[in-house]
Amino acid sequence: MTTAPPAADRHRRSAAGVCVSYSACVNLAELRYDDRFVRELPGDARDDNRTREVLGACYSRVAPTRVARPELLALVPEVAALIDLDPRETPELVEVLAGNRVLPGMAPYAACYGGHQFGTWAGQLGDGRAITLGEVVARDGGGNEQTWELQLKGAGPTPYSRRADGRAVLRSSLRELVCSEAMYHLGVPTTRALSLVGTGEPVLRDMLYDGHPADEPGAVVCRVAPSFLRFGSYEIHAARGDHATLRALVRFTLERCFPQYIAGDRLDIAGWFAEVAQRTAWLVAEWLRVGFVHGVMNTDNMSILGLTIDYGPYGWIEPFDPDWTPNITDASGKRYRFGNQPAVARWNLAQLAGALAPLVDDLDPLRATVERFAAEVASLHRHGSLRKLGLTGRADTWGDDDELLATLGALLVDIETDMPVFFRALAGARLGDLGAAAAALAGACYAPDAITPAQSAATRRWLERYAARVAVESIAEAERRRRMDAINPLYVPRNYLVQQVIEATARGDRAALPELLDVLRRPYDEQPGRERFAQKRPDWARHRPGCSMLSCSS
Ligand code: AMP
Ligand code: MG
Repeated sequence: MTTAPPAADRHRRSAAGVCVSYSACVNLAELRYDDRFVRELPGDARDDNRTREVLGACYSRVAPTRVARPELLALVPEVAALIDLDPRETPELVEVLAGNRVLPGMAPYAACYGGHQFGTWAGQLGDGRAITLGEVVARDGGGNEQTWELQLKGAGPTPYSRRADGRAVLRSSLRELVCSEAMYHLGVPTTRALSLVGTGEPVLRDMLYDGHPADEPGAVVCRVAPSFLRFGSYEIHAARGDHATLRALVRFTLERCFPQYIAGDRLDIAGWFAEVAQRTAWLVAEWLRVGFVHGVMNTDNMSILGLTIDYGPYGWIEPFDPDWTPNITDASGKRYRFGNQPAVARWNLAQLAGALAPLVDDLDPLRATVERFAAEVASLHRHGSLRKLGLTGRADTWGDDDELLATLGALLVDIETDMPVFFRALAGARLGDLGAAAAALAGACYAPDAITPAQSAATRRWLERYAARVAVESIAEAERRRRMDAINPLYVPRNYLVQQVIEATARGDRAALPELLDVLRRPYDEQPGRERFAQKRPDWARHRPGCSMLSCSS
């Protein structure tokens, strides 16, 4: 006789508060794997991991390299649920997520791609330390099938590792896991992260590139996305004049992710490119909304799906400054500074258009898409900026609104003001009492005691204009606050907060990471008792490595 399992076993609430129906979830071995990428696309004839130039291929078959003592440091239940995976820890799960075991159905490979780095063609790059384990087919909430690529980052050398080791350090892996999940909960398109495994092996890195390499703990992240294809995935074949491979990859991309652009044998490449541009415009406008700086917007780090991808020396705007870049490698040229992200995205799209050019008869539609891009992002950004102020935008206020926004930007830079704290303070400020409102905003400044009378007067003038503008739309105070709090995050993974969690985790503290992940699950909601996660960056963190500026070393 069989008895139904107790209700508590069928539906349990995970630590994350996510209702996980274990009865619908299976272990890794029982997931449904698909190997279309390696079956349908041209691959490398060799399957060893020796560094080489790989021609005429989209990937190389390569197995992860074993690690000594894997320890599961995080498993994200929402991401497990996406692929119907049972999130309970088992020895098999840890072995697979560490790269120590490959299950039947998985077809591990490293992808071949190239890219423009800092504006210069860099040739072949490829997955130098990422290995796609396999692709899982799962059903989404609507019952539709969705393919998810499971990719280990830091799982050992591949043919694309060049002179590097294929490994990743705990600090960069943890940063990737935390930020991709934070982005998701902020509502920004992103790749996801399923797990973080400590390898128990040291990794040698010269973190500050100053000739002082040191051992650091190693780790492997398992990233999850419908596809990790990038602009550089197409550029590499175009650069080599290999149009057959380029066409095969484009067809595969459309079949897998953009089927609406296929009609029989005909591929609507111009239509597809316009959609990629649109997604990219939305992505960049969203980064501007939440204050995210990617840090390395090379074309190999631009997702064809318009997702935030390849978290490296990224940063979050704390003191508002459009000229800030978190990447020390970029400190002099500041190509990837916060406010330049739309321009760089456009430049990257132009490179992608150039790569697709051999496949189209008429270049004009591609050109037109690139031409339209700047206006498209500007419009999204403008609209987003008004929404951040609780305004919807009206045709008759456009000229004034542009000035209202520009004046605010200049003010925030001038009075070194924390971006997230400012917008929440403004939402909560009563516009009926501008003196009190100004005092509330001063709390968002990094040096409130140093505010000059002229700066106070400028703040006051801006507040008066803002209050008048709010009155134009007749928005009630409670409604303004509700709107603003819904899109201005209170909690973002400020670099110093993540750095503290990295140090705690490295010391053996196993509570810090789950706590941070949990805070970031509800970035717009006040969470009593968690105020310390919503504060301005403390003084000690201003110049400390990892807390503000970061290197690419990872
Ligand atoms: P990124 O700056 O992280 O986008 O990396 C640029 C290129 O360098 C990619 O092809 C990476 O796979 C490769 N790469 C970065 N770090 C490593 C590493 N530790 N081992 C091997 N390849 C790496
Ligand atoms: Mg990259």
